[in-house]
Amino acid sequence: MSRRPEPRIFDVLSTSVVTPNMLRVSIGGAALDDFPDSQDGGYLKLRIPGPAPTDKPSVRTYTIRRQTADALDIDFVLHGEAGAGGPAVSWAQAARPGDRIAAGGPGPAKLLPPDADWYLVAGDMTALPAIAVALEALPDHAVGHAIIEIQTEADRQEFRHPAGIEIEWLVNPDQNPDVFEHALRAVPWRDGEVYGWCATEFDEMRRARSYLRGERGLSPAQLYISSYWKQGLVEDQHREVKQADAVATSA
Ligand SMILES: Cc1cc2nc3c(=O)[nH]c(=O)nc-3n(C[C@H](O)[C@H](O)[C@H](O)COP(=O)(O)OP(=O)(O)OC[C@H]3O[C@@H](n4cnc5c(N)ncnc54)[C@H](O)[C@@H]3O)c2cc1C
Repeated sequence: MSRRPEPRIFDVLSTSVVTPNMLRVSIGGAALDDFPDSQDGGYLKLRIPGPAPTDKPSVRTYTIRRQTADALDIDFVLHGEAGAGGPAVSWAQAARPGDRIAAGGPGPAKLLPPDADWYLVAGDMTALPAIAVALEALPDHAVGHAIIEIQTEADRQEFRHPAGIEIEWLVNPDQNPDVFEHALRAVPWRDGEVYGWCATEFDEMRRARSYLRGERGLSPAQLYISSYWKQGLVEDQHREVKQADAVATSA
């Protein structure tokens, strides 16, 4: 039986503001020596230390927005009122160069297949790093529509993507699932083979799944769909709900 590798210990190199509600923490150091290359869009399981050294760390999942020779950039959505965003957000806001953080992984990126006739992509700010990586990797001739839900107009980001992929920035500060579903249903359906990609809050994901899989008939091969968090639950609780949901929907 293969054992999971021990988490690596990374050094915090720097922090920077991406947009008002997105904070980048760049990590690196000796842990990168045996870290695999080209992990943009993959994910890490960060072990966020508790207040006391003897506390069990909180495991939180984050996307590698970009990997360079010296660093992994991780973009944290600043959810919650100041100081009340959960262990991961609090850790990121307090992080300073020289701090250390253990992380398992990387887990694989969920990229878009290069040969679909068109793409329908949707997600909230937690999925923005993964969406940006996926769209950056598409061939130039790709066409489609990407809905990216953001907290404020100022949370729009520039990133490279094929000109034929229309980016719709959906400002939805309270993350009302009706707004997300409405926007998804309003995307004009095109001819040809579609590939759907959706990652967002659990209830938004369920509505998107019901539309894309249930009404539009997308097969598992045509759709990546996942919840990245759930309103009111910490990550461990969300993981349990997600597993139960996966079992229920595959039955
Ligand atoms: C594969 C994968 C990749 C991910 N990549 C990223 C990423 O690159 N960047 C990123 O920011 N997140 C990402 N997430 C989501 C992130 O793991 C969760 O948001 C996580 O719960 C945050 O941990 P926390 O300690 O801040 O909050 P928790 O302790 O987990 O939760 C505390 C409270 O905050 C609420 N909460 C959690 N997240 C949010 C949110 N985004 N908005 C509003 N309320 C929230 C919870 O419902 C709970 O009430 C990813 C998740 C997955 C599964």
